[in-house]
Amino acid sequence: MSYVQDVINKVKERNPHEPEFIQAVTEVLESLEPALERHPEYEQAGILERIVEPERQILFRVPWMDDNGKVQVNRGMRIQFNSAIGPYKGGLRLHPTVYPGIIKFLGFEQIFKNSLTGLPIGGGKGGSDFDPKGKSDLEIMRFCQSFMTELYRHVSADIDVPAGDIGVGGREIGYLFGQYKRITGLNEGVLTGKGLSYGGSLARTEATGYGLVYFVDEMIQDKNKSLNGARVIISGSGNVAIYALQKINQLGGKVIAMSDSTGHIHDENGIDFATMQKIKEVERKRISEYLKYFPQAEYVEGESIWRYPCDIALPCATQNELKQADAEMLIAHGCYAVGEGANMPCTPEAVKLFQENKVMFAPGKAANAGGVATSALEMSQNSMRYSWTFEEVDAKLKNIMVSIYRNASQTAKEYGHEDNLVVGANIAGFLKVANAMVSQGLV
Ligand code: NDP
Repeated sequence: MSYVQDVINKVKERNPHEPEFIQAVTEVLESLEPALERHPEYEQAGILERIVEPERQILFRVPWMDDNGKVQVNRGMRIQFNSAIGPYKGGLRLHPTVYPGIIKFLGFEQIFKNSLTGLPIGGGKGGSDFDPKGKSDLEIMRFCQSFMTELYRHVSADIDVPAGDIGVGGREIGYLFGQYKRITGLNEGVLTGKGLSYGGSLARTEATGYGLVYFVDEMIQDKNKSLNGARVIISGSGNVAIYALQKINQLGGKVIAMSDSTGHIHDENGIDFATMQKIKEVERKRISEYLKYFPQAEYVEGESIWRYPCDIALPCATQNELKQADAEMLIAHGCYAVGEGANMPCTPEAVKLFQENKVMFAPGKAANAGGVATSALEMSQNSMRYSWTFEEVDAKLKNIMVSIYRNASQTAKEYGHEDNLVVGANIAGFLKVANAMVSQGLV
């Protein structure tokens, strides 16, 4: 049995109840075979066995009081996966589906994504099964304060720097930061995605969505295609989706459908950014509200958003949301490029279909790395006690996305898998971490 298969089997045995983690490990490790053939020293050093085992997993109780004076208890967690190239870095997710298997899959992906940015950041992830939907501001604050009252002992600007993810935006980061500062007295960049008045970076809010579009733009230009006039479908309407919409519009494309967890809207005239931003970021309402402003749009529940003819598909909601049947529809309708804004939104069967049908495919760990890259730029600004302008940060973000694309594309070619950005991104991200681990000895 190959080294890779042996490690995958051990991961399955050790983590039998964590299918998302097993899926992520299998996808990454299987694509590393060509790199491992060239580097037999990695097997000797047990790199794969070590890289699939988090350095540290912290599980804790989060008690908080709801508005009726009733005590509620959630489960909090932070998984510090790999610090070979820098402090742990990765978001916090608040969603009822959160359990260690989800956080481990995300933390594992984060190792390679962070490595690809070219910046000195390790991999980590955290969160809770707390559901922020329908909670009052005060309930959110009490939850966040309780969460940080445990988390503070495990994080700092040089150890572990969390950020937002599903259910964690500027409001939650603010409450978490306030509590950290209150307990430790330290005014340091322990979290990213902060408000601009207390150490946040310009363009961080936009970064993942913008970065995704910069990446896809570079990828399609390589095949003589352009965003100008392209028809695009974006799933989700959260942080990543909204700013992908804005950048697509700015570059001359047209977004014809977007969704949330209750349904999707479809408008062949193109979706308006300012209206979507107002509904989702200011009013925090359901996507069906869009029809109040644009009655010609249609609202659909219970059907796939991938059913409309389009050139480019950008899944930006959640893991495993784009399945084989969706991929079949997209291919049949002539979609030529897919960019993952979310983490692992396409199932392995869907990815296989895209690759077999020569649909350009940008894997999440490369295409959505703009968020964490800009978080690392926020860390740099905090350390310098200095801020760059929006244009400066945006220009750095664009350069980083273009470099990630070139690195993944070049690495794929070098290892005999031309045009396979999954293999290219995995190998390029892995090599840097593996070499750092070898250099640092058995730790
Ligand atoms: P948000 O919470 O801001 O938005 C998530 C969006 O996806 C919401 O519109 C939500 O709808 C929708 N959604 C969630 N679950 C489903 C579902 N099962 N079906 C349909 N829609 C769903 O999160 P983000 O935009 O921050 O994150 C989205 C994805 O991008 C995640 O996979 C995240 O890990 C990834 N990512 C985020 C980064 C960032 O900087 N924010 C960086 C890199 C990756 P509803 O409101 O109804 O729940």
